[in-house]
Amino acid sequence: MTDQRPGKWAIVQHWAAEPFGYEVFAPHLDAGNPCCFACGWHSERWAEGRSPRKAWERATLERAHIVPAGLGGSNAANNIILLCGPCHRDAPDWHDPWEMAVWISRRAERASKELEHVDTWLRAAEAVPLFKQALGEVVARGGSAEQTVEVMRRHTRRAVVHSGELSQGTMEAILRATARELLP
Ligand SMILES: [Zn+2]
Repeated sequence: MTDQRPGKWAIVQHWAAEPFGYEVFAPHLDAGNPCCFACGWHSERWAEGRSPRKAWERATLERAHIVPAGLGGSNAANNIILLCGPCHRDAPDWHDPWEMAVWISRRAERASKELEHVDTWLRAAEAVPLFKQALGEVVARGGSAEQTVEVMRRHTRRAVVHSGELSQGTMEAILRATARELLP
C-alpha cells in the first residue's frame, strides 16, 4: 500500500495558511523552525543552515491523522498534523476532530531535544554518586575532562538506543561503568 499522505512541508504550508486551524491544531507552528504542533518540541540542529523545507523534511516529527484513516479520516493536509513521538502516541484516535483540538490545547510544552538530553544526563548523574566521586578523583589526579568523556563515549557505543534517545536508565549504567573504570 502506498502512503498517500502529503509530505511534511506541504502539511506545514497548509496549516500556515489556515489562521483558524493554525491556532487550534498547530499553536506552536513557525514555518521557519520545525517543531511538534502539539508541544513545541524541536531540535536546535534541525534548521541549521537549511531551507525551511529541508529543515521540516529532516525533523524527526511524525505525520499524524486528526481523524484516523480507520475511522474515515482523509489523507489530505487538513487532516494531518506533525507530532513528536510521545505526542503521536498519546494523542486521541477519535472520530471527532474536536477531541484532538482539546487535547492539543491541554498538552504541556516540552523543552528542545538538546535541553531535554542535558536534563536527563543531569538526573542520571544525580542517581549515580559514584560518578561524581570518580570525576573528583580524576580532577585530583590532574586528569582532564576529555579523558572522562572518552571513556563515556566508549561505554555509550555499547548501549542500545531506543527511539533515537538514550533512556535515563541507560545513562546511569554508562556513568556507573565509566566511574568503575576511572576509580583506582
Ligand atoms: Zn510533541
